[in-house]
Amino acid sequence: MKKIVIATKNQGKLREMKAAFAHLPVEIVSLASFGDLPDAVEDGATFEANARIKAHFFREATQTACIADDSGIELDALGGAPGVHSARFAGRHGDDAANNAKMIAELQARGLTSSSADYRCALVFEDVDGTVLTADGRVDGTIRFEPRGNGGFGYDPYFYVERPDGTEKTMAELTLAEKDAISHRGKALRELVSQLENYFGCRK
Ligand code: IMP
Repeated sequence: MKKIVIATKNQGKLREMKAAFAHLPVEIVSLASFGDLPDAVEDGATFEANARIKAHFFREATQTACIADDSGIELDALGGAPGVHSARFAGRHGDDAANNAKMIAELQARGLTSSSADYRCALVFEDVDGTVLTADGRVDGTIRFEPRGNGGFGYDPYFYVERPDGTEKTMAELTLAEKDAISHRGKALRELVSQLENYFGCRK
């Protein structure tokens, strides 16, 4: 069976992808199973560029087909920032509290109390022969200063999405299943699954 390595050290993402690809004729393996590998240099200007860099880097490093992702948030009032710098907006990689504080401070400095925003996710599959498939997902929302909810991660408590009945909830107030149904990552994953079904000739 064809092996695909998922270029992430995040166990949650690995589990999510294993479940999404369960019906495909592929064996999903983790980066960890290849021992200690160096990190890819994510210096692309876009989410897709970074996902391509990672997919290519780890495909070469492992000699195995690879799927990589990159995601983040873009605020219209900040000209699209933090964008590809979302994880380290305030300086330290993955410091959610500091990143959120900086986001709010940047809006306050502009005399604003909210901004339209979107989450984006790019997924890239690179096969051993160099074939590349890409998928992109996006969800629009509004950043407001009042955090709500305990779920999710990152910017979720400040990211409000409008629901069909016109009310708003933050991403952190949604259940995992509700977030997955509308999220940038959920959309990109479903799009990539559909492309892989065609690629492996097993569309249902
Ligand atoms: P990565 O693609 O896992 O490196 O994520 C990049 C960064 O974007 C994360 O560290 C978060 O700050 C932000 N981000 C990406 N997706 C989400 C999400 O679903 N909710 C909240 N923050 C997110």
